[in-house]
Amino acid sequence: MLEGLMQHDYPLTLGHVLERMRGMNGDGEVVTLTDDGLRRARYAEVAERVDRLCAGLRELGIEEGDRVATFSWNTQEHLEAYLAAPCMGAVLHTLNIRLFPEQLEYIVNHAEDQIILVDSSLVSALEELAPKFETVRHFVVIGDGDAGSLPSVVRYEELLAAQSPGFAYPRLDERAAAGLCYTSGTTGNPKGVLYSHRSNVLHALGACLADSLGVSREDRVLPVVPMFHANAWGLPYASALAGADLVMPSRFLQPEPLSRLIEGERVTVAGAVPTLWLDLLRYADEHEPDLSSIRLVACGGAAVPRSLMEAFEERHGMRIVQAWGMTETSPLGSVAHPPSEAEGEERWGYRSTAGRLMPLVEARIVSDEGEEMPWDGEATGELEVRGPWIARSYYEDPSTDERFHDGWLRTGDVAAIDAKGYIRITDRAKDVIKSGGEWISSVDLEGELMAHDAVSEAAVIARPDERWSERPLACVVLEDGGSASVEDLREHLSDRVAKWWIPSEFAFIDEVPKTSVGKFDKKVLRRRLEEGELEVAGEEVTAS
Ligand code: ADP
Repeated sequence: MLEGLMQHDYPLTLGHVLERMRGMNGDGEVVTLTDDGLRRARYAEVAERVDRLCAGLRELGIEEGDRVATFSWNTQEHLEAYLAAPCMGAVLHTLNIRLFPEQLEYIVNHAEDQIILVDSSLVSALEELAPKFETVRHFVVIGDGDAGSLPSVVRYEELLAAQSPGFAYPRLDERAAAGLCYTSGTTGNPKGVLYSHRSNVLHALGACLADSLGVSREDRVLPVVPMFHANAWGLPYASALAGADLVMPSRFLQPEPLSRLIEGERVTVAGAVPTLWLDLLRYADEHEPDLSSIRLVACGGAAVPRSLMEAFEERHGMRIVQAWGMTETSPLGSVAHPPSEAEGEERWGYRSTAGRLMPLVEARIVSDEGEEMPWDGEATGELEVRGPWIARSYYEDPSTDERFHDGWLRTGDVAAIDAKGYIRITDRAKDVIKSGGEWISSVDLEGELMAHDAVSEAAVIARPDERWSERPLACVVLEDGGSASVEDLREHLSDRVAKWWIPSEFAFIDEVPKTSVGKFDKKVLRRRLEEGELEVAGEEVTAS
């Protein structure tokens, strides 16, 4: 090695994020919505409470490498846990509060969680499960509510109050585990993704880049996306690092309190899955809240309908930027800012893609035959990615090794990439509809159907067909008071997609079933179809 080289052994650990908060010297605040109104804390104060939480967790027996789980909404305390567990050398394991009991039992036991920090409003979801958790020694209850029948309860505020200020943080390797998050997994058991200090720090810096989310000191950031979901898209760590204020909605995730929070706190950046914004749009159209403080809404986790982006921009002056990612990619993989020269329709075209890759993340598309496909915007294949914040295997689960090969993660998404590097996700591998040997994109059909005024939600699944092997079946939810016939919808699609893509069968349903993270749950629809529970309408039927 040449003499005089940079300090390449200086570890990129989350301790730097914590020290940044402490050093904000009065700047930076966390605002949490509670039953009693808004609670505010300066970053330096939060950092001091993180020290106490570390001391408290140590007192409860937490050592380096132990898993500390959270079962909580987006709150100041959740942020404190986000920092305390990794900075003391333990691993923050964010539990998805919406999972089924059997999945939670599997995850907690698989991760061997030692402690669960649980919001008192969520205690009832864990009471019956607690005896089945094999390794959990304490439940630390946040808030004043009843701890029910939970065993070994410690009160969060009492634990903090009993500690002296200051904590002797260990010097950690940047490759040490920092966080653990299980993907909801559409088949088989949930799979654990293990983030490192280095991956989290670099990902947080990535979220601060102007061409991704551009989080800066000027921002007031509202993570609506739950903090149990993929590090809540990097927003908590990025905000802490940049000194941006954080506005935490806690369990008040309905359009009305969210709109009031955005208006009252002058939020500038927010993040959530498309379904949430669909609900908020309906509310905003009726009540006209002032959403103009928002400069960027990060939206992803599922394809973002262009009609949703247009409606918010035209009617409420709020810009939604689509991003693509997965739990396995920390999650920011690509962000859809259009090239500066693109205008009008072309600009919208770019904005409707999954976007350009984040710097440091590489991608390729691979055909069924294992051949790398060109970046011509046309050829499709499975999207594979690699980079410093991309998983290289799942946590303690060798049965999943086939998802990784020569350093690449197989995403399970089918995509095309154009010459400028914009990714267009055409489907998830398991949702693809193969008709007459050709692929039909359920994502595109859904986007076009949702652009119809009378349609509020649309999910397209494959229906077995003797002649074509599969044909699309469109499951459509109509707007309240809206009306559209199968013919209207087919007519609407006729100049928007290839003729042979247009479904001849539709099912008008009350609601598209959602997964625990609010995405369309097509496997439930497929099951309903199999079990004959979907009422399928042909061309002549009208629904209203
Ligand atoms: P899962 O949905 O499998 O439980 P994730 O929450 O990690 O797990 O979701 C990742 C998946 O979400 C991606 O593989 C992709 O299919 C989908 N996704 C994320 N962002 C987008 C987007 N902008 N457009 C289309 N699909 C997306």
